[in-house]
Parts: sequence; structure tokens; C-alpha cells
Amino acid sequence: MPTERTLAIVKPDAVRARHAGHIIQRIEEAGFQIRAMRLVHLTKREAEGFYAVHRERPFFASLTSFMSSGPAIVLGLEAPDAIRKWRTLMGATDPAKADPGSIRKEFGTSIENNATHGSDGADTAAFELGYFFPGIQFAR
Ligand code: GDP
Repeated sequence: MPTERTLAIVKPDAVRARHAGHIIQRIEEAGFQIRAMRLVHLTKREAEGFYAVHRERPFFASLTSFMSSGPAIVLGLEAPDAIRKWRTLMGATDPAKADPGSIRKEFGTSIENNATHGSDGADTAAFELGYFFPGIQFAR
């Protein structure tokens, strides 16, 4: 399995609820290497830029308000098959439908306040890592 990088976000709901430590522990226990990490409080405009692909969706205004509602933690994760592996560990978008043991099942409280984000493909991962870590040399 080739080594990949993906972008993870501990979203504002989970940081506010002080679940960030637990979630990062789950990331490490699953075998990811943390290659980059920042605490960010997005402006509404930055959240809109990050989620630009969703701008036509009915929940875009609500989602970008939520994502700019408080600090979030953005991480560059590395592992074999990292993109799929992180999405599996997160679980389904709607915590009510997420598998038992998944992070969204444990920490998410609604389809919007679902605790974490993960890139959904190689192109998305490249865009999203560049959005938060422009030009950085990832730690080794
Ligand atoms: P993801 O890839 O699993 O994060 O899901 P999507 O790319 O479809 O949606 C992006 C984010 O928008 C999700 O993680 C949720 O925070 C939010 N979201 C998705 N669907 C809905 C919805 O139907 N209503 C609301 N309010 N938010 C949603």
C-alpha cells in the first residue's frame, strides 16, 4: 500500500467539547504519523474557500458559519492508504449512521457537528493540505 498524506481537521465542535486530545490519541493509535499540525480559527471567508466545492449545497452557509465558529485543529497525516484509512476511522458523515467505534459515532452530535473532517481523494488531499500548509516541508 503506498504511503499517502491526508488532511484531517478536528472541527470546532470537538475542540470546544475538549475532545481534541482523545481524537488525536485515536489518530496515533491507528498508526498515522502526524507530519504537520496547527490550531486555526477560520474566518467565514477562509471556511468558504476551503469548502468551495460545496457552495451550491443548501447547507453551505450553515457549514461555513460552524467551521468559523471557534478554533479547529488541522493535521497533515501520513500512513499507507492514509486517505481511505482516515475516512474509515472517522465513520459516515452523519454520526447517527456511523459505525460503532468510529470517531464521528463517538464524538459527533449531528450531521453538521460531526467532530472531524478528512480529505475524500488524492486531488482533494493535495488541495486541502496546500490550503492549510502552503509551501511547508512536512516533518519526517
Ligand atoms: P464528509 O466528506 O463526510 O465530511 O461530507 P461532505 O463532504 O458531504 O460534507 C461536508 C461537511 O458538511 C460534513 O462533514 C458536515 O459537517 C456538513 N454536512 C454534510 N451534509 C450536511 C447536511 O445535510 N446538513 C448540514 N447542515 N451539514 C451537512
